[in-house]
Amino acid sequence: MKQYVVAIDGPAGAGKSTVAQLAAKKLGYTYIDTGAMYRAVAWKTLQQKQPVTDELILSVVPDILVDLQYAEGKTRVLVDGQDVTGEIRTPDINKIVSQVAKLGPVREKLVVLQRRMAERGAVLMDGRDIASHVLPNADVKIFLTASVEERARRRCKELREKGYDVNEAEIQRDIAARDKADSEREISPLVQTEDAVLLDTTNLSIDEVVEKILEMCR
Ligand code: C5P
Repeated sequence: MKQYVVAIDGPAGAGKSTVAQLAAKKLGYTYIDTGAMYRAVAWKTLQQKQPVTDELILSVVPDILVDLQYAEGKTRVLVDGQDVTGEIRTPDINKIVSQVAKLGPVREKLVVLQRRMAERGAVLMDGRDIASHVLPNADVKIFLTASVEERARRRCKELREKGYDVNEAEIQRDIAARDKADSEREISPLVQTEDAVLLDTTNLSIDEVVEKILEMCR
């Protein structure tokens, strides 16, 4: 079977990483979670224990080493050699990650790494600007979405399972704010490209979404 480059974009909580990870495993592809890379920069910013400003974010960019290690269907996220996988999906990071991701120097640095990771093919990469900017020549482009209510429900469940005491209405507001920031920013905003296939997962199970992605890659 031909080894494709697959781009999956979509708003927060659409289930991109869950289904992309499973589809990549079935295809024997490498999964690249670009959101984790922006979260890694946000994590290092919070480590500075100072008020989060654009200047503070930009101060961590020149020296930060962000690495994704994908093995046995799981992605480990390393910042300066430290495994931060369990620390980047928290409400505190959710609150600042769009501010981090709108800054040109952050995007420039991470996009270089993302393109390098995709060079060998057989990759499935998810994010916001993969089809439009990072990998415009991807063989398969998918725009994955779901209603904001359903996305909030899923995020809430995920965070509660991790032990966070979260409020669904608040999560929905956070997601809507992140969607707005990601869609309206100047550099590489979240868009569905004309050549992307729209996949609305509101009423689909994880397995059904994975199967649809696999069909598109066959
Ligand atoms: O996908 P995830 O929710 O982990 O992404 C976190 C944030 O990283 C997004 O809200 C967005 O601000 C940013 N992001 C981005 N471009 C990407 C991937 C993520 O701007 N390709």
